[in-house]
Amino acid sequence: MLSDLSLLEMQEYAKSLNLPAFRGKQFFDAVISAKNLDEVSVLPQNIKDLIEKDYPKYTIERKFTSKDGTIKYVFAFADGNIVEGVLMNYKYGNTLCLSTQVGCRMGCKFCASTLKGLIRNLSAGEMLGQVLLVNRDQGGSLKERKITNLVLMGSGEPLDNYIEVTKFIQLVSCKDGLNISQRNISLSTCGLVPKIYTLADEGFGVTLTISLHASNDKIRQQSMPVAQSYSIDEIIKACKYYFDKTGRRIIFEYTLIKGVNNSLASAKELGQFLKGFPCHVNIIPLNEVKERSLKSTTREECYAFAKALEKEGVSATVRRTLGEDIGGACGQLRNQILKGEV
Ligand code: SAH
Repeated sequence: MLSDLSLLEMQEYAKSLNLPAFRGKQFFDAVISAKNLDEVSVLPQNIKDLIEKDYPKYTIERKFTSKDGTIKYVFAFADGNIVEGVLMNYKYGNTLCLSTQVGCRMGCKFCASTLKGLIRNLSAGEMLGQVLLVNRDQGGSLKERKITNLVLMGSGEPLDNYIEVTKFIQLVSCKDGLNISQRNISLSTCGLVPKIYTLADEGFGVTLTISLHASNDKIRQQSMPVAQSYSIDEIIKACKYYFDKTGRRIIFEYTLIKGVNNSLASAKELGQFLKGFPCHVNIIPLNEVKERSLKSTTREECYAFAKALEKEGVSATVRRTLGEDIGGACGQLRNQILKGEV
C-alpha cells in the first residue's frame, strides 16, 4: 500500500511503473492529504488506473464527539477490519491516540481491546492512515498540521508489532512527511522487555510509557499475563537502559483497581522502588469494562494514592479521563463494533 512508503520509495515506485519521479511526489502529496484517488486532479485517469490497487482504501467509518470535546474515530480498512482512535484536545495542542493492532493478545484483565484476542497486526501505512485521516478531518494539511502529539495507546501492543510500529514512527516523524517529532510521540507498552532494549539500541527517541499497574509481581500477575514472562525488576532495568540511551524520562501508567492495587501500602511500595528514578507516574481510575468484574476507585482515592507517591519523592499526577461517555477512554477501545451496537 502506498502509505507504507517514504517519499523516496514512492519515487522508486513511480520509476518501477515507468513514470517520472515527479509522479512519485504527486502520489506522496495525495496520500499525505488523505485524498481519495478520484479527488486527485493532478493525475490522469490512466495513471490512476495503474496505482489504484496500491492506493490506500482506509476511511473514517464513524465519528463520535464527547461532551468534553474528545472525538472517537472508527477507522475501516480495506479488509473490513475496524479499529478506533481518539483525538483529545489539551492546552498544548491535539493529541491523537491511535491503534497498532486489530485486537491484542496480551490478555490484560481490565482492558476491552484484548477481549477477542489478536485479529491482526496493522501495517505502518495503516497506522499512518489514522493520523492522515484525522489531520484532514480537522482541516489540517501537510504544512499546517492539526495534530501535535501522538500516543500509541489505542488497541494493540505496539512492541508486539515492532517492525511495523517502528517503520510508522519513521514515516510520521520524517521531514518530508508530517514531521511529528519523536519527542511528541509516546509509545505505551505492557513491558515486552527485549523490545525495549531493541528500541533503545536502534536509536529511537520516543517517550516510553510503561503500563505498570502494580507495585509488585504478585499483584501484577493477577491482572496482566505478561507479568509471568517479565518481572517488574527486569522492566525497570530496561527502562534505565532506555533512559541512559535517550535521556527521555520514563512515564509509568498506573490504573487504580478497587481492592487489587489501590491500597496506600501499594503506593508506598511503588514509591520506594521508583524513588530516584527519572520518571513520572500517571494515575488513572479504572474505566470499567462491561465484560469484566473489576471495579474503579473514586478520584479522591486516586489523589490520595498520588499524594502517597509524592511523599516517597516520586512525581505523580491523576490523569483526566476523557471521552468516557463515548467509550473512548483508556482500555475502552474495541476492535470491532457490530452494526446497531453503538
Ligand atoms: N498495550 C499497550 C498499549 C495500550 S495503551 C500498553 O499496555 O501500554 C492503553 C492504556 O490504557 C494502558 O496503559 C492500559 O494499561 C490502560 N488501560 C487498559 N484498560 C484500562 C481500563 N479499563 N481503564 C483504564 N486504563 C486502562
